[in-house]
Formats: sequence, structure tokens, C-alpha cells
Amino acid sequence: MTKPIPIKWSNPHITRSIPPELETLKDLQKRLPDTLHEKSREITNQMLTILSGHYGEVRIDEILTGILLPEPYTIIPNFHARISQKRYTQIDTLIITSKFILHIEIKNIRGKIEFLQNPSRMKRTYDEKESYFDCPFTQIQRNHYALLLMLRKLDLPIPVHRALVFANKSCEIVTSDKRCTILFPKQLEAHILELSRLPSVLNKRQLKQLVNQLHSFQTPFLYEDICLKQGLDLATLKKGVFCQECTGRLIQQTRNWKCGKCGSVERNPLPRTLKHLLQFSSELEKSKELRKWLGIKSQQTLYRARKTLMLQISSIGNGTS
Ligand SMILES: [Zn+2]
Repeated sequence: MTKPIPIKWSNPHITRSIPPELETLKDLQKRLPDTLHEKSREITNQMLTILSGHYGEVRIDEILTGILLPEPYTIIPNFHARISQKRYTQIDTLIITSKFILHIEIKNIRGKIEFLQNPSRMKRTYDEKESYFDCPFTQIQRNHYALLLMLRKLDLPIPVHRALVFANKSCEIVTSDKRCTILFPKQLEAHILELSRLPSVLNKRQLKQLVNQLHSFQTPFLYEDICLKQGLDLATLKKGVFCQECTGRLIQQTRNWKCGKCGSVERNPLPRTLKHLLQFSSELEKSKELRKWLGIKSQQTLYRARKTLMLQISSIGNGTS
């Protein structure tokens, strides 16, 4: 009998960035006319929901970093990919090893959870109040198909597993459901160890090929026509370049931009502002409009800001993010 090749195990490092949509929403909120208090509150709530999801993901990252994984492996947090012209997929955590792929969907939700069927929905009861959410199984199933589509060309014999993890300590699952593995954070380690017993089916080269293939589909999260979706009239929004620290506008100086309200200084706020504006409305794709919104006269300055932004965006698709 041949001796099995010893596998090296190690704890992963995971670097998860703050969801970029938060910055876009924050910028949008600063531009609201002073009369739209209700809309401002609504955007605050949307940001809190995004942040709560992010904290749940960070909690699971902390648990994952304490689990030994068989090398080699790659973990991609917040995997956002474009599958076709109109179809995107977003996976909270993707674990890729030579034995298995595991995609994890994380819910940071408190209260009593029920999974309703036909039509599929998730019901939450908290503080005697009932709320309904999209079915997480439908979401995880769609992500599963998307993953299979992305990997189809490679034709590698790697099993793709999925799990739904409820990160909040104050969450109780009332109905059991067999459509997908459902885990609480403390069960994650046993589940991953079980998967790690599977035989290695990929060599290092194939694993690299697989990871590169996934990275090639990766694209940054960008809203399309957010004003339209939020029911906002673009013409009513405040123009200019806004401070990151407060609600003031930045004023261009010789070398920097300075906030007229809090005095903070930023070297080049144009690429980030441009990124937000392009998500507000497709009407803002025109150079003339953009210069008006950014308050700049020079075509050259806009060109440079666009170039910097495009470099930042394209770096996400080639695995350097
Ligand atoms: Zn400021």
C-alpha cells in the first residue's frame, strides 16, 4: 500500500473590505435636497441593513480563520461576478480547495425563522413583528448554477457544496428544511472537516486554473440607475464633490481639495466621486454632464479621473483585489 501524501493544514487569512455600495449610498444621501428627510432615513436604513450583513460575514470570517484547511486553498470573500450581459452573482464566501468548493451564504438575522414554500419565502418573527424576505434557498441555488456555469469549460471533477449559515446568536430556526445544509457558526468547523475528508481531485495546476477562471468573471459591485430605483429625480440632487468626513463640499485648491465645512483635505477625490455619479444615472455618462456635476472645466482632468477609476475597477477582475 502506498503511503498517502501528507497534507499540510493551515489557518486561512481573510481580508474582507467594507461593501462599496455603502460609500455610494452615503454620497447619494449627502446630495438629497434638505426637504427629503424621509428619503434620507430610508437610505440610512438601507445602509444599516448592508452593514449588519457585513458584520455577520465578518463574524463567520473570524470563525473560518480558526479552522484548519487542507492546503492549497483559496478563500474569496464577497465574490461578485458577471455571468452574462444582464446576470450577476454575489457569493458571501467562496472556499476553494483541491478537494471541494464550498460556497457559503451568510444571514445575520435575529428572531424566529420559518422557511415557507410555494411560493418560497423566509419569514422572521421578532418582537412580535413578522417580516418576510426572499428565499435564501432560491438565492443559493442560483449562485450554485452560476458557479457551475463559470466552471463548465474547465470540466474539472471538483464537487461543489453549499451551505446557509445563520450568523446571529439570537436566531432560532423553527422549520427544518432539507433543500440546503443549514448551519450555525459553531457547526461550521465540523462541516468543513467532514468535507476535508474527501479525496483530492485537483493538482496544484488545476486548482490555479480554477481560481483564475473564477477571478476572470469577477467584477466590482456597481449600481445601475440607482436614482431611478430609489425614486429620486436626478435634477433635484446637489452637485459638487462631497467630503468623506462630513456633509460639506470639497473646494479645489492648487494641489488638493479642501472641505469648506470641516477643513479636511483630500488629494484626489475625483475618481471616487466619478464612480458614485456613474451609478446614479445613465444620464451622467456624458462628459459634459459629469464636468458639470464635478464642477470642473477641464476635459483633461475628467479624462485622468476616468482613467484612474478604470484602473481601480479592472484590478478587481484579475485577482489583484
Ligand atoms: Zn468635511
